[in-house]
Amino acid sequence: MTSSPRPLPVLRAVTSVTTRTHCPYCAFQCGMAVTSVTAAETTVEVKPDPDFPVNRGQMCIKGFTSADLLDHPARLTAPLVRSAQGRLVPATWDAALDFVAERLLKLRATYGAAAVGAFGSGALTNEKAYLLGKFVRVALGSPNVDYNGRYCMSSAAGGQNKAFGLDRGLPFPLEDIARTKTLLLWGANSAETMPPIMQWVHAQHAQGALIVVDPRRTETARVADVHLQLTPGSDLALANGLLHLAITEGLVDAAYVAQRTTGFEAVRRAAMEAHPAHVERLTGIPIDDQLRVVRMLAAPSSMLLSGRGPEQQSKGVDTVLAFTNLMLALGKVGQPHSGYGCLTGQGNGQGGREHGQKADQLPGYRLIENDDDRAAVARVWGVDPASLPGKGKSAYELLDALGPEGGIRGLLVFGSNVAVASPHASHIARKLAALELLVVCDAFENETSQTAHVLLPITQWAEEEGTMTNLEGRVLLRQRIREPPEGVRSDLDIMAALAERLGHGPSFRYANSEAVFDELRRATAGARADYSGMTYQKIRRGQGVFWPCPGQEAGEHPGTPRLFGERFAFADGKARFHVVRHRPAAELPDADYPYYFTTGRYKEHYNSGAQTRRVTALIEAKPEPKVQVHPRLAQRLGVAQGARLLLESRRGSVSFTVDVSPDIRPDTLFAPFHWGGRGAANVLTKPALDPTSRMPEFKVCAVRARPEGADAPSTSTAKRSA
Ligand code: SF4
Repeated sequence: MTSSPRPLPVLRAVTSVTTRTHCPYCAFQCGMAVTSVTAAETTVEVKPDPDFPVNRGQMCIKGFTSADLLDHPARLTAPLVRSAQGRLVPATWDAALDFVAERLLKLRATYGAAAVGAFGSGALTNEKAYLLGKFVRVALGSPNVDYNGRYCMSSAAGGQNKAFGLDRGLPFPLEDIARTKTLLLWGANSAETMPPIMQWVHAQHAQGALIVVDPRRTETARVADVHLQLTPGSDLALANGLLHLAITEGLVDAAYVAQRTTGFEAVRRAAMEAHPAHVERLTGIPIDDQLRVVRMLAAPSSMLLSGRGPEQQSKGVDTVLAFTNLMLALGKVGQPHSGYGCLTGQGNGQGGREHGQKADQLPGYRLIENDDDRAAVARVWGVDPASLPGKGKSAYELLDALGPEGGIRGLLVFGSNVAVASPHASHIARKLAALELLVVCDAFENETSQTAHVLLPITQWAEEEGTMTNLEGRVLLRQRIREPPEGVRSDLDIMAALAERLGHGPSFRYANSEAVFDELRRATAGARADYSGMTYQKIRRGQGVFWPCPGQEAGEHPGTPRLFGERFAFADGKARFHVVRHRPAAELPDADYPYYFTTGRYKEHYNSGAQTRRVTALIEAKPEPKVQVHPRLAQRLGVAQGARLLLESRRGSVSFTVDVSPDIRPDTLFAPFHWGGRGAANVLTKPALDPTSRMPEFKVCAVRARPEGADAPSTSTAKRSA
């Protein structure tokens, strides 16, 4: 018996290339080493970069799994256009772009330029955010551009601008956190939102005191020396109360206040109205705890860092000003390893708010209503300053104005899932459905694209180059790892192609992303967020560059890791105190809706979940949103662990699986906001807006609750419990 010769194995060359880049998700922007291995097919491996000084070899599960979406089977790889029968059908790029441009021109001719607009994102690179602002003002001629960072950072930005004359989330590098004697994390669950930051917090805690203020006993609160579990919406009252005690305890740094600030006397008088006993009633925080905390903050160095808890309120800016008042009075801002900062959320939440996709801003934090700023940017753009539109509508107001009633008939959405991320989400879904043109540019279908007329498939992080600015104000370079799939284009290419069809082609022809950055540098020269002294090469050479980094004729500016050491960003160099008084949330529990409802995050998911709900490991770890319920309240409501509980607010109802936990206050219910559909927490939230920042009040509203299937209570019969 003879055997046929065995086939020889086919030898394929295996190549492997490692590139250093950054995680596509949160503002921590972990450094990653991404290895592209090509054998029979190409695979991508992601590891934390041990040399990057921010994450220092750590990442969270979202970063580790970030490559899973690159070749995801649900990824869009061709434009989709809605047919006369209402179905989305594949189209060529030319056909889809022609359709969009024709509709935009028609809407503009019929209703005026303000009838079209765009909604951007804190996930966009600086180049995309910059170009989007230019595209809307120049190619569309509309004032209506804003972005989802309005839901994230606008109150912290508003407060810092008023107090310091400049908003950079952290005015110091992360390493300063490790060296402060007292660290107060206010409404920031960092252990879940950006886990690698905890290495800095743990280093701080090893030599100092850690305080957490949060209505929930979060993973972050669990490691603190002091946890103040305050009543939702009472942050401003507590901060004013701490200032009152700083004054009465003699902890105010009078020399610092005299030399480096203005306006203290009026604030001192107002703070004396915040009596500790009254503050205790409003906040639930005993006077002894208030005293203990203010004494801890008076340590030789101390730092107060806020998150979205106190900021996502209809008084978010005033609450941030209460924080800056407190830290200025203690003489901490601009001192070594001390001061106030906010922990930015989205990947490019910092750069995204600097370069002109905000309704009231032009690149570099220039203001659209300032004549000098308009002239400076118009010069770079080669247009008449008078042709630039004025201030547009803020994010929620823009969405609320969609459709015939509000007058915005056409909307382009870049990288934002507004149907899930917006307060009163069902209302916003109805508004989106009333549009005559909705264009969604994204890598996947999502809740916002459900009523879109056109979907344009875009590149993901590994397939493009561009800069991101992290929570410290450090500008980083996102590097291209691989070619994008056939049929996919960058947002930059989409804007350029549409501008061409709208008659503005020459102003939007760039060789690449770096060419857009070069124009951004010129547009920001001399502005508050000055990038003019940076280049891709310089960013690549170092570990990022902190802004401001002005261009210099001789020598290279090194960037500015620390702000406010010598002066604040006002003409006189002094910081400003502001009188701010407590006021209640726009909606408080009452007889009909007797509980507080508040929202937050899971560590496995990111924002609206449009990406992370598609990652197998993440959805297996956290498959659904749960409502956190205190055991006493669970007993009163008659629900046990795993039961279904229906939550109702004045805006809608959502049913959640119950998670019974002593970590939440008995008067409060909590759910994450990463889901749409049946688990959409933002169906419940109230779009009460901060008067300055236009930030919606995501963190406080009133709800009632009953086991799913139980009869609805008649109004005014529900009793306040617990
Ligand atoms: S999500 Fe944030 S913390 Fe997690 S890996 Fe990415 S950048 Fe780092």
